[in-house]
Amino acid sequence: MNLGKFLTRVSIALITTLASSIPLQASQLGPEKVVNAIYRGLRQVDATRSRPKVRWNVANGASSPCGRITGTLYCTRNNTIYITTQHIQMAYRYGDAALAYILAHEYAHAAQTVGGFLPGNITAVELQADCLAGFYMGAMPDVTFDLQDIEQIAQIAYEVGDYEFNNLQHHGTPKQRANAVLRGFKASQGNGISACQVR
Ligand SMILES: [Zn+2]
Repeated sequence: MNLGKFLTRVSIALITTLASSIPLQASQLGPEKVVNAIYRGLRQVDATRSRPKVRWNVANGASSPCGRITGTLYCTRNNTIYITTQHIQMAYRYGDAALAYILAHEYAHAAQTVGGFLPGNITAVELQADCLAGFYMGAMPDVTFDLQDIEQIAQIAYEVGDYEFNNLQHHGTPKQRANAVLRGFKASQGNGISACQVR
């Protein structure tokens, strides 16, 4: 992930074309830099101005107004995103952009909540959050995601998908989740945020 705009957004398409011949030297940022840069970028692009707080590197079992932390979540009661140490480690199995995705996804839940456009069922909520996360990341003025980053994001979104169709917590299949975040990313370069609307 690169901070600063020496790769333009238009270059994503170009990189895609060139990727097979040119090795990419994406810099890998540590979690603190990622959280700071992405949090700043999210505040710039979130039109609902939900402004959640972020607590990261949180241990499983820590307490919150939403109960004990058992995984990364957005807590509506104090408008705060909690990202667990375990999930940061999981993200870095893919790379820094995967952590950006986790933060952007939770931030999208804040926007859905504060903006008052939470879809009716949890799968729709989650897929919309994935789409918004992609849109937000692609729209950030000071952070550039190259092809490798976008692959990391698609991979982790795929990884966190599930097939538990009869579970009320079903978040979407691996394919649906990867497609949702990529759709949002693409929309940030073209059609705009309406691509994330749930019909
Ligand atoms: Zn979610």
